[in-house]
Amino acid sequence: MKILVLNAGSSSQKSCIYDISPHDIPAHSTAPLWFATIDWTVNDDYGLLKVEANQEKVEITIPKNQRPSAISMMLATITTGKTKVLDNLTEITRVGHRVVHGGAEYSEACVITPEVKNTIEKLIPLAPNHNPAHLEGINAISEILPDTIQIAVFDTAFHQTIPPEAKIYPLPYKFYEQGIQRYGFHGISHQYVAECASQIINKPLSELNLITCHLGNGCSVTAIKNGQSINTSMGFTPLEGVMMGARCGSIDPAILIHLITEYNYSAPQLNHILNKESGLLGVSGISADLRHIISALDDNPQAQLAFNIYIHRLQSVIASMLPCLGGLGALVFTAGVGENSALVREKVCAGLSYVGLKLDLDKNATKCINTNIAQSDSSCEILVIHTEEDWAIALQCLKT
Ligand code: ADP
Repeated sequence: MKILVLNAGSSSQKSCIYDISPHDIPAHSTAPLWFATIDWTVNDDYGLLKVEANQEKVEITIPKNQRPSAISMMLATITTGKTKVLDNLTEITRVGHRVVHGGAEYSEACVITPEVKNTIEKLIPLAPNHNPAHLEGINAISEILPDTIQIAVFDTAFHQTIPPEAKIYPLPYKFYEQGIQRYGFHGISHQYVAECASQIINKPLSELNLITCHLGNGCSVTAIKNGQSINTSMGFTPLEGVMMGARCGSIDPAILIHLITEYNYSAPQLNHILNKESGLLGVSGISADLRHIISALDDNPQAQLAFNIYIHRLQSVIASMLPCLGGLGALVFTAGVGENSALVREKVCAGLSYVGLKLDLDKNATKCINTNIAQSDSSCEILVIHTEEDWAIALQCLKT
């Protein structure tokens, strides 16, 4: 079965095709047949489409005024040229969309109906950068492949099991009734790595207590008890929680009131500062990319400070997840930073040694994807797991 996955963001569009037999689902991910990205940030005038298939790589520039037809230009490379992998797009039997915000409505993936589209549209105020891009993708596919089933896989769905005490903010209750609550994000990734963790340590997910740390450009930490999310660091929006590349994470909300009343900052200005000018970038003044911060650690005190805050906040959030779990089976690191930065894993684990966590420094220093890097006498396992959100979306399409 050919499954097309669309992962649309405000400034990029990632897409791939997997060929998976529903009768023989592999235990591990397989490489996509075709893989494409459109990056709208390379230039003021055009976006760059990169396609990989058949061991060939193709790059095509797309003028920004042709953005509405970008998805059909991207899909054309599936059936034509060096990257052709299908004779006809109708060979695609399912299209899975990563949808960042499903609100309180969806606890699992679902077939996209006009009603589901309405809900995604209704939720635009909660995900202004993402939900419009998802709708653009859904509408493009409806035109190109009108008879193909489309499935929405929500980043919020996995967190629907979070209990009221972790979900509801201590504000006047009417705000909760208006939809202001912890939704949590990165759910596709947290759920996927939790399932991988259970395979790696050979214990059923239903008997495991996990803390999963998705550390990419955006970062979130989730407490997973018996396979269910019971707390997560991101909240009403993906801004809450740990410090991130350019996002601040949790701060005293009165700072915003101060900036508004004393300095006349507007809502759009504050939104930009908190989401785009803070985090590692804001403190270091160098970059939102942790690799650049780590390279500058020795001779740039601001880079050292940014790194120290990043670790301090990550440790604090991980530690805050421990009481609700009542015992930890494994701490999981995933995504760009979690999978690649031995230094971050080492510093985070060092701060948690008081709960008996013992990292094997030699294993940690090697390329340790999908392995256990805890010492044998550690109180819990420490796993590095490669997250594969697109693969997880494709699997959900098979199950839905
Ligand atoms: P996204 O959240 O956009 O999906 P990724 O999961 O790909 O992002 O993570 C991207 C981030 O991973 C980069 O910003 C970079 O800081 C970080 N990263 C990648 N490799 C390393 C590395 N070797 N050391 C430290 N950080 C890394």
